[in-house]
Amino acid sequence: MIIIDGKKVAADIRSELKDKISQLKAEGKNVPGLVAIIVGDDPASQIYVASKGKACEEIGMRTKTEKLSADISEAELLTLIQSYNQNKDYHGILVQLPLPKHIDEDRVIETISPKKDVDGFHPISVGNLVIGKDTFASCTPAGIQELLMRYKIETKGKHVVVVGRSNIVGKPIANIMLQKADGANSIVTIVHSAANDISYYTKQADILIAAIGKAEMIKADMVKDGVVVIDVGINRIHDPTKAKGYRIVGDVDFENVSKKASFITPVPGGVGPMTIAMLLSNTFKAYKLYGE
Ligand code: NDP
Repeated sequence: MIIIDGKKVAADIRSELKDKISQLKAEGKNVPGLVAIIVGDDPASQIYVASKGKACEEIGMRTKTEKLSADISEAELLTLIQSYNQNKDYHGILVQLPLPKHIDEDRVIETISPKKDVDGFHPISVGNLVIGKDTFASCTPAGIQELLMRYKIETKGKHVVVVGRSNIVGKPIANIMLQKADGANSIVTIVHSAANDISYYTKQADILIAAIGKAEMIKADMVKDGVVVIDVGINRIHDPTKAKGYRIVGDVDFENVSKKASFITPVPGGVGPMTIAMLLSNTFKAYKLYGE
């Protein structure tokens, strides 16, 4: 059984991007840039945006955070996004979600130029993914495929069972794995809460992707021997032995499922670190395609 080290893969990706950006600087070229727009002062969102900014700085990427007050109007926010759509120094635009209730999230996402949609949430990016065109895939699913590829896990003809059908994980990873392409070309099943017995499906998985948001829901008797397990879940469970009073676990009962698995991602340290790495990677791609 091999534990997939997402921390290491993410560090490798960052280091590869850092080298490419150093090369651009040495050649006197413009560098890729990412602007993060955050509305209001939700502490979790502030932490996410700060860590994205820090990750950009570490690899020499241009970065800026636009902190807007919670009562900014939707029109002002859209105008700001439009100005960044025209800005040649920022190749990726990220709007941290969720947004305050008076702002229409869909309208905001649709205002971001698809050429700068490094989060991959724009309907054009989603549509391109579905029809198999090169596009920006959203970062967590893109990170899952990257892990599979870097660990040279065969995906062609394999049965991938995805538990969860959210727009940010379940649906996009299912569409990625369905593509007739390297690192994909899989037979894909998507399972969700309407299934009577999800184990009927999970037991058939060669590659099981759990994106449920339910602590340790996937048990050892729900998978077959040799399964590859990708655990996307991030769940807090009460743990008085920890200073914070809780610990983070995935959607998979790691201790027992790992005994049957051929490969498995831990939580934390599996899929989690890949999300920011893929955001950086998508921003570099936007620069190469449209901004160099
Ligand atoms: P959502 O809550 O949006 O979606 C959860 C999905 O799981 C839904 O499709 C739901 O079904 C399905 N589901 C829930 N309960 C069951 C059940 N008992 N049986 C079968 N299916 C079920 O979550 P997300 O996709 O946004 O996130 C999933 C997990 O991944 C969370 O723990 C989240 O924190 C984590 N996450 C981690 C990221 C990272 O590592 N960077 C990034 C994003 C998410 P239905 O549609 O029918 O309601």
